[in-house]
Amino acid sequence: MQKLFSSRFPGGVHPTNGSDKALTSGKAIRAFHPQKVWISMEQTPGGKCSPLIRQGDAVKRGQPIGKPETFTASVVHAGISGKVESIREGQAGSIYCAILADAEQPARMNQASMGVADLSAYTKDQIVNAFREGGLAGMGGAGFPAAVKYSPKKPVDTLLINAAECEPYLSCDNQLMIEQPMAVLNGVRIMLKASGAERALICLEDNKPEAAASLQKVLEQLKESVSLEILPTRYPQGGERQLIQAVTGREVPAGGLPADAGVIVSNVGTAKAAADLLLDDEPLTSRVVTITGEVNDPGNYLAPVGSSIQELIAAAGGVKSPQNRVILGGPMTGNCIAVDYDGKTELGFVTKTTSGVVVLPPAKRAESPCIRCGGCVKVCPAGLQPWKIDFAQRREDDALCEKLDAAECIACGCCSYTCPAGRELSLHTRMARDRVKQILRERKVQK
Ligand code: SF4
Ligand code: SF4
Repeated sequence: MQKLFSSRFPGGVHPTNGSDKALTSGKAIRAFHPQKVWISMEQTPGGKCSPLIRQGDAVKRGQPIGKPETFTASVVHAGISGKVESIREGQAGSIYCAILADAEQPARMNQASMGVADLSAYTKDQIVNAFREGGLAGMGGAGFPAAVKYSPKKPVDTLLINAAECEPYLSCDNQLMIEQPMAVLNGVRIMLKASGAERALICLEDNKPEAAASLQKVLEQLKESVSLEILPTRYPQGGERQLIQAVTGREVPAGGLPADAGVIVSNVGTAKAAADLLLDDEPLTSRVVTITGEVNDPGNYLAPVGSSIQELIAAAGGVKSPQNRVILGGPMTGNCIAVDYDGKTELGFVTKTTSGVVVLPPAKRAESPCIRCGGCVKVCPAGLQPWKIDFAQRREDDALCEKLDAAECIACGCCSYTCPAGRELSLHTRMARDRVKQILRERKVQK
């Protein structure tokens, strides 16, 4: 186990003292069994699938129900066994398949947790194919298809397993490592074989000693080069570029991919899902979701993809106060999906990338003019000038946003967190990033 004592990436913040994560610590993952799921055919923005089922069909858990139509899509599977109640268009044109659960659900195998698995029969190509057919996608946020990630155009020598979980409040990855270290490590070994890399490093922040101890015990049984890298707690330690820089000292070039630095990065939850897929024949149909903050009984839930967020909040005891904000994801990078939520309306459905739902108190500050304090520049891990991009984006000056390298924004939220004027910087830098990336793509197509 190697421990780094100082941060090796620029910028960053310490958003909390750890009391947020303590809300769910020591609580075992609870199984969530919905009567009905609504499974989106667009699990990630732009990752569109077309339905393979019709209204009235009987489906089994793990059956493919959505076929990828775009490069960033992965196969969608039924999260439960049951009957297709409807196939409907939801918000922003997404298609949802509603499945009503059967009274009996098939039991899960648990070979992934039963000791160090024999992987000698699997070739790299077989594993990557299984990733494709099993709909394995990055569960840390981006949802990029694993089959594409594990077919890099350049050779890689290092696999980084992102277990930093640096977002405040979220603890789904931490709890998974504590409860299922063998399955996690079998998944890491599968990914190591698929990547062709020489070594795998599981990267945790030093605020997760229980998870580190749990993995370390099992690591001693492995023959592969898999080790733990303990990093100082500093947000956004789990940003892909920040992690690569902190652990390997390499920098991913602007506009480049981790493979340009000889690295593949995968989330630790995705590693566990890889073990479920290969060793238990379970495609990616469920995930652990943290429901926390201002709810009566915060916890982590193993929920089928398509589970209702309204029902999950109710399972966590409901909101504590009628004055609140509901954030999908962590408070630094997530989106506010409701204000003053009363538990009576639907807020959306779990996807492969839903790591958590955090209920926070109402926002305190209104925006005021920038006082040029430079705080946002100091904390930006991408080395940008957030206040300038913010101004440029609000004036819709695309050329200036491009000149200011807005495409390099990682939407970490450090600038907004720091700003004494309460400016919604990351909202605007993220919008600027998306716009500049779109312009760059269009320019490339025209060439
Ligand atoms: S500009 Fe982007 S990368 Fe920089 S601090 Fe703000 S959100 Fe993070
Ligand atoms: S932190 Fe806020 S007030 Fe300070 S320079 Fe940035 S935008 Fe302006």
